[in-house]
Amino acid sequence: MSQKLEAFLNENLEDLRGQGLYNEIDPVEGANGPIIKIGGKDLINLSSNNYLGLATNDDLKKIAQETIEKYGVGAGAVRTINGTLDLHVKLEEKLAEFKGTEAAISYQSGFNCNMAAISAVMDKNDAILSDELNHASIIDGCRLSRAKTIRFNHSDMEDLRAKAKEAVESGQYNKVMVITDGVFSMDGDLAKLPEIVEIAKEFDLITYVDDAHGSGVMGKGKGTVKHFGLEKEIDFQIGTLSKAIGVVGGYVAGKKNLIDWLKVRSRPFLFSTALPPGDVAAITAAVQMIMDSTELHDKLWENGDYLKAGLKKLGFNIGNSETPITPCIIGDEKLTQQFSKRLFEEGVYAKSIVFPTVPKGTGRVRNMPTAAHTKEMLDQAIEVYEKVGKELGVIS
Ligand code: PMP
Repeated sequence: MSQKLEAFLNENLEDLRGQGLYNEIDPVEGANGPIIKIGGKDLINLSSNNYLGLATNDDLKKIAQETIEKYGVGAGAVRTINGTLDLHVKLEEKLAEFKGTEAAISYQSGFNCNMAAISAVMDKNDAILSDELNHASIIDGCRLSRAKTIRFNHSDMEDLRAKAKEAVESGQYNKVMVITDGVFSMDGDLAKLPEIVEIAKEFDLITYVDDAHGSGVMGKGKGTVKHFGLEKEIDFQIGTLSKAIGVVGGYVAGKKNLIDWLKVRSRPFLFSTALPPGDVAAITAAVQMIMDSTELHDKLWENGDYLKAGLKKLGFNIGNSETPITPCIIGDEKLTQQFSKRLFEEGVYAKSIVFPTVPKGTGRVRNMPTAAHTKEMLDQAIEVYEKVGKELGVIS
């Protein structure tokens, strides 16, 4: 290894570890369901994005297995050569129906979907107004586009309006876009989409909503844009297929001309192999399940409300979540990591989230209840929280 690289790595790793900012990764031995096994130990799992339990759904597993028998395990090529299977076309039609748009396009992950979609439309002559708490993949997509990125204070509509006005009236930019997460995953709060749409209309902004944590969760399963009834107002409805939908991938839903453009100009669509057939068939079926019944959605909310009430009653700071995401805000990074470690020892897996994922001094243990948890599991988790919270002086 180059001496410069060796020195760079050692110095920076030591620095991170010293600050308690190095997150160790614990491999899960088996399925990522409501109970997981790590290091041979069974734990109540409060850290997955498997909101509806679909990642381990038996019907979806069977559909994936049968599809693999027929199509094999890989798509064999990028979408524009001959990697577009009839299954991809069906999936994209289903996603458009799900999101109430004319068309949709799928990508290999939610992360590369943001990189792809932003950079396909925006360039160095444009500006992007981006909520300061937007996901890393949005930040990277903005950078890749080379547009001027202007951050606005989190969900601060006055700040957005002022910055939109300034950007548009400066005459410096060709197009101006506003980008926001639909649900902010670290706090569980919603973007103020009705106000954002109003500002966008006033200044002719392109609207872009990444609803990775909203699909399957908000709008009776159809997402945050549907929750606010704004399907016709948002230009880019972005989502991931890896959270509530339970598999992997990302998508953009929007007008046909937008999707046609992304098919010829978004680089992961052109240069990275298509989603595998088993996954595509399972995703299509999962979307259909969410459209057909709100049973899992309702169970998710019931469990979310139950966990929140339990932790709040004990005196924890659970923030202002408007979704089942339940942060338990502790503050100090080291204490947060110690808290999570003690939960682990007591049989609860709830990962600590610290800087740089969240601002310094706002470390938290984030709980993600799912439709697959039982009341008994949640009761047991709340009991452990009480024990650890008292022991570490987080609650009295
Ligand atoms: N956008 C947001 C808002 C996310 O939370 C995530 C996942 N952490 C992504 C995009 C990336 O999605 P994926 O995991 O499918 O790559």
